[in-house]
Amino acid sequence: MQAARQARLMSMSRTLVRSHVHAQKHFLTASTSRAQSGSVASTAAAASQIPPPPPSQGRWRYFLQTLGRVTLVTVIGASATFYYIAHKEKNPGPQLPFDPSKKTLVILGSGWGATSLLKGLDTSDYNTIVVSPKNFFLFTPLLPSVAVGTLNARSILQPTRYLTRHKQRQVLVIEAEAKEVDPVNKTVTLSDDSEIQGQISSTTIPYDYLVYAVGAETQTFGIPGVKEHACFMKELHDAEKMQRRFLDCVESAAFPGQSDEEKDRLLHMVVVGGGPTGIELSGELRDFLEEDLKSWYPELASRIRITLVEALPNVLPSFSKELIAYTERTFKESDIDILTKTMVKKVNEKSVVLKGPDGVEREVPCGMVVWAAGNTSRQITRDLMAKLPEDQTNKRGITVDDHLRMKGARDIFAVGDCTASSYAPTAQVASQQGSYLSRVFKLLAKKDNLEADLARAETGEEAEKLKKRVDRVKLKPFHYSHQGSLAYIGSDKAIADLPIFGREWTSGGVATFMFWRSAYLSTLFSLRNRSLVAGDWVRVKLWGRDVSRE
Ligand code: FAD
Ligand code: MG
Repeated sequence: MQAARQARLMSMSRTLVRSHVHAQKHFLTASTSRAQSGSVASTAAAASQIPPPPPSQGRWRYFLQTLGRVTLVTVIGASATFYYIAHKEKNPGPQLPFDPSKKTLVILGSGWGATSLLKGLDTSDYNTIVVSPKNFFLFTPLLPSVAVGTLNARSILQPTRYLTRHKQRQVLVIEAEAKEVDPVNKTVTLSDDSEIQGQISSTTIPYDYLVYAVGAETQTFGIPGVKEHACFMKELHDAEKMQRRFLDCVESAAFPGQSDEEKDRLLHMVVVGGGPTGIELSGELRDFLEEDLKSWYPELASRIRITLVEALPNVLPSFSKELIAYTERTFKESDIDILTKTMVKKVNEKSVVLKGPDGVEREVPCGMVVWAAGNTSRQITRDLMAKLPEDQTNKRGITVDDHLRMKGARDIFAVGDCTASSYAPTAQVASQQGSYLSRVFKLLAKKDNLEADLARAETGEEAEKLKKRVDRVKLKPFHYSHQGSLAYIGSDKAIADLPIFGREWTSGGVATFMFWRSAYLSTLFSLRNRSLVAGDWVRVKLWGRDVSRE
């Protein structure tokens, strides 16, 4: 057997050698005959056989090869980093358990203030408990995009546990609403008001420090019919409700036999509030109309009207004059009516009563009213303030000192929309306050540890040294640094007021829109949110917004 295989191999290699020799012979014969036919001809033939590459082509090839390699390395590197971060985000490691010797820090809320505190907080210093009726953080600046389906609701949510499970010491997250804060006995009473409850659905927990970050609710100014008939734009379910209602109006207008008058009523959308939220919402509605409804409801699209109502003399009071004028011009081009110096007097099921600058009240038929006007304190905040009547007298919200301590209650800190400060109620303020508090708690933990050592000090000298160190722990007051104002105004345009090197820089248009998008992408809290939002933008560009209705 083996001998036969060897013989076969020998014969194969012999054949190979023979063919190689034959090829060499052939080559030599060809070159000899070419040499005989004259030197000029042979040079020309050789030149035509192996043309030297033109220099520019060689450079191009080299450039393309390098570019290809760099791109490949970048793509592989970026994918590996992306995968690594995603894997890390998805797989939290073990955490330290609660330590009975540590102080208890209770955080009420899971919004901008609370989440940025949690992000920066060193949880190894405390036993931390988070209480919120929502077990997630909502990225509010992009909520108007959810209301028209540009973004999926889930893309701008971040479950609170995705953050707390990555902390060094475990954090207890309780999905419940705080009902009462007792600043004297230092307790919080909470209850689970969700649809499904277990045997225990309410409890009272003690705290050493409390961070009060429950935000605010929408101000209706006691105007009749707002709560019953208008859509708010504050929570995720508000945006989802608005999207359903808007499409309901469009489908009802498409019902056969509907009169022109009724179609016009159903397709008239009234947005109340000329702040950034109202403006962004009107802009998003216009995009939906222009980019999608014109394709799917061509017979109705021309009838859809958007009216923005504002009580002040102009919209966007926090922006510069040029940008206000630019927004008004853009809205005019987009057929969005702006009614300034106009007050809403009543909201009915099928109309809204407006009082214009002439003082005359008119009933305007409409299919939907969206209410995006102002904040007011929550009931629990008013109750808490009522317990400290001497220190808490501001009707707008909780009064805090320079270190964000609630006046009259040393161990309560308050941040964000629930406070009455000189700052605007924005995410920017709340998040800066939250990260400031994370630094405060680091120092407080240090101070608490030193004080505990001081209590155990055995010699007078040691006590003196420790006392000096305690005195040296100083909290700096909170300082707000304004990063600028941004708003999307529809038609792929945005406006920006940015302080750059101490100067106010204003800009509006398509380039600002690109900046707006990249600024929000980078502000989103996690890689997961960033990739979901970017994916939604691509989806809408390719396939448009969804016009189906649940
Ligand atoms: P929130 O973020 O509202 O958080 C409050 C938290 O408290 C929530 O988690 C809530 O569930 C929880 N809570 C409520 N009641 C209780 C209770 N009883 N017990 C326990 N927890 C409770 N700001 C900007 O700077 N830029 C923008 O572009 C921008 N756009 C916006 C767009 C929209 C549609 C909206 C509504 C707001 C926008 N804002 C923007 C404002 C910004 O969202 C708020 O200023 C910010 O959310 C305030 O943060 P906060 O932590 O005080 O409150
Ligand atoms: Mg439940």
